[in-house]
Formats: sequence, structure tokens, C-alpha cells
Amino acid sequence: MKHCKRSIALLLAAVTALLCLACCLPAFAESSDDPEHEHNYVAVTVIKATCTEPGLRRYICGCGDVDETRDEEIPATGHRWGPWTTVVEATTEQEGLKERTCINDPSHKDYKKVPKVEPSSFSLFFQKLLARLKGLWDRIFALFYRD
Ligand SMILES: [Zn+2]
Ligand SMILES: [Zn+2]
Repeated sequence: MKHCKRSIALLLAAVTALLCLACCLPAFAESSDDPEHEHNYVAVTVIKATCTEPGLRRYICGCGDVDETRDEEIPATGHRWGPWTTVVEATTEQEGLKERTCINDPSHKDYKKVPKVEPSSFSLFFQKLLARLKGLWDRIFALFYRD
């Protein structure tokens, strides 16, 4: 009787195991064979945007499928200019030149001319004064040396 009980228990265990297997197998088959695989798209940057060129973001599933309807253009970032540095100092005689470099890509450079330095208002005042004095002197000179 003891022996019988044990075999019944074994049989029950075997049946449950089989039932469980029968239950789980289709699930296993589904995930490995995936006849009804549901795409799970993840955004992937395929082309990185540069300062001047737009990039591309695509939605790609783990299975390799691409949802082309969701392709997104990544706008160009635009240059990120660093501070201006002087290349040629401007003087009263010549224009100066300044340069700045892009932080994103150091091969991108921007230049601007710097206008000539205006003489200071002080020296302008003296220039005018001298011109006036010269005019005055010319008049006096003309008075004494008239033909
Ligand atoms: Zn997929
Ligand atoms: Zn740039």
C-alpha cells in the first residue's frame, strides 16, 4: 500500500510536469520563432547632425526592421563660436583682423575686419586748431605781402 501511494504521487508529479510543459512550450515557440512578433522601435541616431548639415534619426526594432515613416531629420546644430581673437591689430593707418573658431569643429573659422582706429578727439582738436591757425597766418601773410 505504501508503494502504491508513492507511485501515485510520482504519477501526479509527472502529469503536472507534462501539463506545465504543454502549457509553456507554445510560449517558448512563439518567442523564438516569433510569428506574431511585435516590433518595438527605438530611436537611433543614424547620421549625426553637424554645424551645417542635418542628421537623421530612425526608429529601428531589435529584429532589424526600420519604421521609415517615422524617420526624423535632426536639424543642423549651427556653429558654436568661441571668443574673437585679434590676428592683426588695427591702427590709424590700416584695418585690423579678428578671428574666431568653432567649438564643434576647429576647422570652421570666422573672420571680421576691424576698422582703422580713429584719431583721438584730442588730436582731432589740435589738427583743427592748427588748420585754423594756418588759415589765419595765411591771411596775415597776404595782408603784408600784397602786390
Ligand atoms: Zn521587430
Ligand atoms: Zn562649426
